[in-house]
Amino acid sequence: MSHVFYRNPYKKYPVVARGKGVYLYDRQGKRYLDGCGGAVVSAIGHHVPEVVEAIKAQLDSVEFAHTSQFTNDPQEELAELLAERAPGGLDFTYFVSGGSEAVESALKMARAYWVQMGRPEKWMVIGREQSYHGNTLGALAVGGNLWRRAIYEPMLYPRPRVAPCYCYRCPFGRHPESCSLECADDLERAIQEVGPEKVSAFIAEPIVGATAGALTPPAGYFQRIREICDRHDVLFIADEVMTGLGRTGAWFAMKHWGVVPDLMCLAKGLAAGYVPVGATMVHHRINDTFHNRRNVFQHGHTYMGHPLAAAAGVAVIRYMSEHKLVDRSRKLGKYLREQLQAACGDHPHVGEIRGRGLFVGMEFVKDRESRTPFEPETGFHNLVGDAAFELGLILYPTGGTIDGRRGDHVLIAPPFIITRSQIDRLVEILGRALERATKQVAG
Ligand code: PLP
Repeated sequence: MSHVFYRNPYKKYPVVARGKGVYLYDRQGKRYLDGCGGAVVSAIGHHVPEVVEAIKAQLDSVEFAHTSQFTNDPQEELAELLAERAPGGLDFTYFVSGGSEAVESALKMARAYWVQMGRPEKWMVIGREQSYHGNTLGALAVGGNLWRRAIYEPMLYPRPRVAPCYCYRCPFGRHPESCSLECADDLERAIQEVGPEKVSAFIAEPIVGATAGALTPPAGYFQRIREICDRHDVLFIADEVMTGLGRTGAWFAMKHWGVVPDLMCLAKGLAAGYVPVGATMVHHRINDTFHNRRNVFQHGHTYMGHPLAAAAGVAVIRYMSEHKLVDRSRKLGKYLREQLQAACGDHPHVGEIRGRGLFVGMEFVKDRESRTPFEPETGFHNLVGDAAFELGLILYPTGGTIDGRRGDHVLIAPPFIITRSQIDRLVEILGRALERATKQVAG
């Protein structure tokens, strides 16, 4: 009997034994093509010797020293590498251990900034429907993932919700030709409703991952968001936990639109799964205010700036730069979408294939013509995910909320080192998994 507290105690998990490149192997020797980097984490593949050696070397010098007493070389270097690559002005990095911690830090930093600026009435953070920012209570409160919030709702502070930019199911009934960015203007409405004097920040994922299967915004969306935030003295927090570090074909997704956020959250791809790490990148305008008065930002975690995590992050960024993996993510992402479109684009249960770089989502529908979703209890995304897993392909099934119900998508986000022939294989297995799931719901 296992003493591990599993989230799903009824599931039989294979034991992972090793990883190499785009493959994971279980104890029985079965090989799995990692088509999603676990949960959009493994960006450079498994067991890259350069990263393994960098972590070992750090372990040989010092494993831990608390950041209230010391800094360390890898965190200094990682902060520099990030500042060189981030949208201009995001010059400072606050290191934590994961995505939820990065989001919590950003929420509290925004609040602390306004207190510093002599505007303590500004506290509220506005988020979007159909979004995910983490599972801790603050992150859950600003997220729009209704089924994850469910029983915790009484523990979450109330906040207004704004529309997602969900073009396939436009909440304003528009088509791309008639789009006038009402979804962005919905933020203006929400700010006015609450009163701009109370709003501290707006948080959004550049491309929505876990709740919506790589929802990409319409052209001009984030530029409009930036304008609205500026007009009302509202900080903009970009949650790049999934999109960060090359996943969408740019170091940071915000660079696609030339928009500079005030705070930016990172995790997953930052150390590509080699060691848990997270980070909140901070605009120098905000950072500078914290020099005025000490201790206004009361926050911190024991493992922040951990030398092993930082050493892994440095090695990952160096590896990505040396092998031009960001560019590769952009090019192979296009190839992946084209192949998926050709193989599955006309399938009766495939509603849309979308995304950017090697961050691709496939939305499933019961009826393609009317875009009617499956009943939530069907869990079509899990049927596809389970069938693929059995066939040796790992996908990331994600359930979002459509009109308050769970949606059906899988995320396809392989390591950037994947080759064209491995993509062909991925697409072929996914097609077979789709057929299996289709047969299951039909009969
Ligand atoms: N923000 C986004 C956009 C995410 O996708 C996730 C996790 O999926 C998080 C935050 C939370 O990160 P973590 O699971 O590392 O706490």
